[in-house]
Amino acid sequence: MDEHSREMISELKAYLEYLKGMGIVSLPISENIAEEAIRSETLTLAEVREELGDCKRCKLHRTRRTIVFGEGNEKATLMFIGEGPGYDEDVQGRPFVGKAGQLLTKIIQSIDLSREEVYIANIVKCRPPQNRNPEPDEIESCHPFLMEQIDSIQPKIICALGTFSAQTLLKTDAKITALRGKLYDLKGIKVIPTYHPAFLLRNPERKREVWEDMKKIAEWLNNNNKTEEME
Ligand code: URA
Repeated sequence: MDEHSREMISELKAYLEYLKGMGIVSLPISENIAEEAIRSETLTLAEVREELGDCKRCKLHRTRRTIVFGEGNEKATLMFIGEGPGYDEDVQGRPFVGKAGQLLTKIIQSIDLSREEVYIANIVKCRPPQNRNPEPDEIESCHPFLMEQIDSIQPKIICALGTFSAQTLLKTDAKITALRGKLYDLKGIKVIPTYHPAFLLRNPERKREVWEDMKKIAEWLNNNNKTEEME
């Protein structure tokens, strides 16, 4: 625990003692607020994984083989967030290892990075049956864990892959065609949506747009790292 947190806890203790002295021995606090407070501390990825456990919070647990938590550099500057595991990911327990994953690896390499240098996760951690779209209740159950992963990694920029990733992270219903290629803000982290690699496999003519978006990410990283080096 850092010095600032210790100070805050000590001040809070003193305040609670003061209230106790005034005869106030309990405080009204809703379960939601209590859960939020627990979630507001930054966990390590291992702690987030532990908290997730053998998750049965949504119906996807009934048909999944493996929870696909995410993988990569725990302190990545750049994070990729896809939709949800497919067949290969469900079998191997790793994100983006099937055909779309091979294309994602090439996309990452196109800006001179490797999979090991970035972090790769998904909006939902369990495979939707028959690769159907994740449903709102499933996305909602998984979302706090994704946010904890983001808080833990603290990437500078997130590349949202496809409609579900972009719409969930940016809390919008806008179409991916309208969202892609632009920089948005998520709690101080830049978010740039682009097309999902699986969409590119079906529509290879759209690869050029993804290349443009990747160049934008590379440019942003380049400018940002330079600014940091000067600080
Ligand atoms: N598609 C995704 O969105 N995520 C994966 O991990 C694999 C395919």
